[in-house]
Amino acid sequence: MAVFNHVSFDEHEQVVFCHDKESGLKAIIAVHNTNLGPAVGGCRMWNYQSDDEALTDVLRLSRGMTYKNALAGLTMGGGKSVIIADPKTQDREALFRAFGRFINTLGGKYYSAEDVGTTTADIMIAHQETPYMAGLEGKSGDPSPFTALGTYLGIKAAVKHQRGLDTLKGLKISVQGVGHVGYYLCKHLHEEGAELIVTDIHQPSLDRVATEFGATVVAPQDIYSQDVDVYAPCALGATINDATLPLLKAKIVAGCANNQLAEPRHGQLLKDMGILYAPDYVINAGGIINVSFENNYDAAKSTAKVEKIYDTLLTIFTAADAQNRTTGEIADEMARAIIDAAAK
Ligand code: NAD
Repeated sequence: MAVFNHVSFDEHEQVVFCHDKESGLKAIIAVHNTNLGPAVGGCRMWNYQSDDEALTDVLRLSRGMTYKNALAGLTMGGGKSVIIADPKTQDREALFRAFGRFINTLGGKYYSAEDVGTTTADIMIAHQETPYMAGLEGKSGDPSPFTALGTYLGIKAAVKHQRGLDTLKGLKISVQGVGHVGYYLCKHLHEEGAELIVTDIHQPSLDRVATEFGATVVAPQDIYSQDVDVYAPCALGATINDATLPLLKAKIVAGCANNQLAEPRHGQLLKDMGILYAPDYVINAGGIINVSFENNYDAAKSTAKVEKIYDTLLTIFTAADAQNRTTGEIADEMARAIIDAAAK
């Protein structure tokens, strides 16, 4: 397993492999870049099939956080952590206490938070061992509604740019994954009159959006080929790949999932197919923006900053058209300019 030569290493400042014999914790903490401030990014708990898979995930996610935080205008660097374990593990006290102790050894260079497979309760356990946890109960709390708000506004920006429309009323939108973020996203979309087609692998979550928002449920493998205006990936990453691209009928891809493109070249393929792509780390920044208000929490200020995602995306879409480049290239370039300026 290569680390320094890993294809996703991308000049990470620090990568920490953590093992605690007592609790059985196996984790990797990745700090990508701290030019703008301490690295902040969530902790994902997942049943990775290999250490290599976990390393690849944490490196890609961590780099994404650097770019996300920069473009969202936050004074925070990028990092991420993964715990290699079944997310349904029942005995979490010892595990997350051990995780918290490892976070503490970094002395504030990295702050962790909730992500896929972890909950606010887990974060509170780790917080007993370290002050360097974010998204705490009684402070900024669950980031998901803010991620959903940013994603909803990002979809509106894409529809405005491509179709000149100010409303989603009557548009068909497919949502893949109706978990924490997907549920709130569906709520916004439904309230604006969009028609929802949804999928998930968790039946109770599907039942909820079908009942509350009149969503049509399809099987997971059928979500790509739906005849919709917008496809919103809101489950896991890499769902835009060689197998799914030929199936897509949507002309917009805009959702909250991290690392939606299996490889960067899939951004170019989307462009070639005339599909407008909202870069994942731009559209899904609402949650981390909310976390950035953790101290002296102010929901109104947080909401106002999340709402800027709409304008940021319009800027990216317009520049991509003008320069005949992908939206991902434009977003990366804008983010890198901010990160490099902070280094000087
Ligand atoms: P979640 O775990 O609550 O929801 C994900 C949902 O996807 C679950 O309901 C799960 O059953 C479903 N799912 C998993 N595999 C699936 C498959 N193959 N087909 C269909 N559905 C499947 O997670 P979340 O917090 O809602 O996050 C969703 C995505 O958004 C993740 O990629 C996450 O990294 C990203 N994200 C979340 C936040 C946040 O604030 N929670 C912020 C930024 C990015």
